[in-house]
Formats: sequence, structure tokens, C-alpha cells
Amino acid sequence: MEAGRVAPVPEDLIARAPKVLLHDHLDGGLRPQTILDLAAESGYADLPAHDAESLGSWFAEAAFSGSLERYLETFRHTVGVTQTPEALRRVSRECAEDLAADGVVYAEVRFAPELHLQRGLTERQVVREVLVGFEEGQARAAAQGHPIRIGALLTAMRTATHSRQIAELAVEFRDEGVVGFDIAGAEAGFPPTRHLDAFEYLRKENAHFTIHAGEAFGLPSIWEAIQWCGADRLGHGVRIVDDIEIDADGHAKLGRLASYVRDRRIPLEMCPSSNVQTGAAASIGEHPIGLLRRLGFRVTVNTDNRLMSGTSMTREMQLLSEAFGYGLDDLQWFTINAMKSAFLPFEERLELINHRIKPGYAELRSELADRLAS
Ligand SMILES: [Zn+2]
Repeated sequence: MEAGRVAPVPEDLIARAPKVLLHDHLDGGLRPQTILDLAAESGYADLPAHDAESLGSWFAEAAFSGSLERYLETFRHTVGVTQTPEALRRVSRECAEDLAADGVVYAEVRFAPELHLQRGLTERQVVREVLVGFEEGQARAAAQGHPIRIGALLTAMRTATHSRQIAELAVEFRDEGVVGFDIAGAEAGFPPTRHLDAFEYLRKENAHFTIHAGEAFGLPSIWEAIQWCGADRLGHGVRIVDDIEIDADGHAKLGRLASYVRDRRIPLEMCPSSNVQTGAAASIGEHPIGLLRRLGFRVTVNTDNRLMSGTSMTREMQLLSEAFGYGLDDLQWFTINAMKSAFLPFEERLELINHRIKPGYAELRSELADRLAS
């Protein structure tokens, strides 16, 4: 092991560590058994497998196949079975419970209301049902001794044309659990500036938003998201490394855009497993997160699509700990970065940092020290 590196943090400690998640898609995190139940209830007959285990593996295989068509098919199924109030409430409730069980203390979960209208719901109804589900899930998680706070992000599809309407919904529900807005979907050919109207409206309303940028597409997309649209955060943003040169001695030279992102502390919502799956990074070990963390960018660790990537926050942190030798101090740094970057009021962020995250890590640090001493 090279100097300065520590042994990976034991998995049970990572599982118990207080974690913060800013980038997680509701339709990418369903339980396989729930998909089967909902399909049976609604008469959805297109599922490719008929027991939870094989369905779970089908999702992981399809997502890792390298075929965009198969990857998109996975969302056709999760979206296909979430078209009723009951289904939306159930998957949101389970999402909150699953994240809480994974040790997440604060999560921002995003969903696109426009994808759930196939059976006659309106976008406003979709938002209401999901928020009720999150409330129920939070109450259950608290009763089980794992309190979690969930904030919803409303996503507009960048390939569609009514992002302004979704932005207005985000503002309408800002005091009822919606904390921000996002655009997602195919990046190439659909620059964020197509949705300027929505972003200008949100800025006028003093509302927060993040933009999926710099995942499939490079620097121009990141530049537009920040300088034209005014994004508070970047979804992924991995391609910011295209603006960083490493010389023969290993010194990094940042271009103007990379400097701006670092100087302004613009949060990067990085999703290691998902980025490897989509080819945005070659492997976890080669993921730009290692370099960006070293250079002090405001990096955060996220899951993206837990079902498709077969992952959790515990797993993402464990993979990073193994690949880069990150110890508890590093994991706490990622977690505090995320909490600082959350779309929650400042006082609530401080409260979580000072009363849950720091004491939680302090406890794990002394437990790890005890283990190493014995
Ligand atoms: Zn995403």
C-alpha cells in the first residue's frame, strides 16, 4: 500500500455512517418485488422476468449491457408500473425506507412528473402522491430508529418542451417538500439553454436547481449550465476533467472553466457506478472523482439509479474506499460537501452537519480505533 493510504473502511462501519445523497432517481430505485406486485395489480404484462431475483439480475444486466436501447428499456418498465396514485405512493415510501436503512440521513430524490401521466393522472397529482409517499416513508423510518429527511426535486425531460410548467410546479410545492428542479435525459443535441425560460423563471423566484451536464457530453454543456442557465449544482459534471491538464510531474493546470467551478465551490453530483455503466468513466479506479477530490473540488458521492446499478450509498462509498484508499475522514468530507450543497435552508443543513454527521463519524472513528488496537 502506498504511503499515506489507509486500509479500506470496514463495510459495516460505512453502512452505519451518516450519509447524504443529492442525486437519486425515484424511477431508478424500485425494489424488484414491488415492480412484480405493481405489474400484477395493474395488468402490466411486459416484464422480462417473473420472480424478484431474476428480475433484479435482468435490470443489472440490461444496464451493464452497453446497449442504450436495453438501458432505456429498464426505465420503460419502472415507469410503466408507476402510473397510479397507489403505485407512486408505495415506491416513494419504500424509497425513503430503503435509503434510511442504508444510513442516509438526508436525501434529495428526483422524478419527472411528465412520465407518470399514462393513466390519467395530472402532473400536480403525481407530485402530491410522491410527497405523501415520502412523508409516510419518513414516518416509518423514524419509527424504526433511522430518521431520514427527504427533499424532492422535480425533473423536466430535456427532450420535451414544457420544462417551464414543471419549474412552476416546483415553486408551487416548495413549502410542501419540493426543494428544487432538474433537467435530465439525452444530453447530446439537447443543450440546457433550450430550457432557459424555466431557469430564468426559477431564478426570478429565488428557487434552486441542478442540471444534468457533463456526463455524456463535454465542457460546452457544463459551461451553458453554469454561465447561461445559472445552475446551483451539476448533475455528474465528470467531463470537467477535460479542462484540467496534468503535466509530466503530476501537476494539475486548470482551465478557466474548471477554475471557475472550483473557485465558486459548484457542487458536482458524482455517481461512480452509474458513470462506469454509461461509459463516462472507464472504471471506479479511473473515475475523475480521485483527481477532483485531490484538487479540492466540491465533490459529492451519489447513487443515480440504485436498481439499475445494483448499488446503494454504502456500496458507492465502499467502492471508493477500496479504489482510492479513502478513510472515514474522506467519507465525512464527501458527506459534509453534500450537506453543504443541499437545497435545504442553511440552518437545517448546519443542524444535520453538527448533530448527525459529525457525531456519527466521531463515534465510528473511535470504534475503528478500538478495533485496530485490539
Ligand atoms: Zn441522473
